[in-house]
Amino acid sequence: MTLTGKRALVTGASRGIGAAIAKALAAEGADVAITYEKSADAAAEVVQAIKALGRRAFAIQADSADVAAVQGSIEKAVTALGGLDILVNNAGILRLGEVKDISLEDIDALLHVNVRAPIVASKAAIPHLGEGGRIISIGSFFADRVPGGAGLSVYALSKSALTAFSQGLARELGPRNITVNVVQPGSIDTDMNPAHGPFGETLKSITALGRYGAVEDIGNMVAFLASPKAQYITGTALTVDGGANA
Ligand code: NDP
Repeated sequence: MTLTGKRALVTGASRGIGAAIAKALAAEGADVAITYEKSADAAAEVVQAIKALGRRAFAIQADSADVAAVQGSIEKAVTALGGLDILVNNAGILRLGEVKDISLEDIDALLHVNVRAPIVASKAAIPHLGEGGRIISIGSFFADRVPGGAGLSVYALSKSALTAFSQGLARELGPRNITVNVVQPGSIDTDMNPAHGPFGETLKSITALGRYGAVEDIGNMVAFLASPKAQYITGTALTVDGGANA
């Protein structure tokens, strides 16, 4: 196991990709705190699954749109885990709408949850991270290109912002041997983007592999980036999209 003794916080990990990331980190030996917004029961199930692996696990209710809640979640995780080595900014929302139609409320929600929260969480986590620390944010393949059709402009913007932020932060934290990266999923079968949902066939058709990915495909990549094997990878975005942007 590559993460024995490490302590991780994964935001938005009651369901979908975040839950898989939390379990993948635990499978490599990490103790894990997770945040969620509404799904207390699902979060408790993730905690139980991690405990079944022999690791410590904690669930923290925190709305990523709420700055104080984000800051508080870092402090709660540090207290529960006894420190912090790995922050995974996964919580994210999708609001569709062409620019001429999208509401200011949806624009604010996308920017607050997808962009501001990772910045605020990173800012709060930095004082706690030591040598070998990791900050990994979950972006999107729509940060590089936007082949999914109309209505994705603001979501794509919110995800591309994570790359520039992580490049800058990698420069700031490199001297402390802390790496900062983005993982950009393609179409992964979750509640946000179900393989059998209205966009499923279109999104499947643009991949090279001809299929959606599984949440474990992202969990495995994050566990790798968190491990010492990825010690020389920083300031970059790694895309896991079945060749959708090939
Ligand atoms: P889901 O909608 O399936 O799950 C979202 C998770 O984030 C849930 O645990 C949810 O908590 C939590 N969450 C949502 N909003 C908030 C909030 N305001 N505060 C705290 N937690 C919140 O999403 P996915 O698993 O599909 O997506 C995870 C990440 O991956 C997102 O950043 C998304 O943008 C990105 N992504 C996903 C892709 C896909 O195809 N699925 C493709 C590219 C990127 P709760 O259960 O309490 O609501």
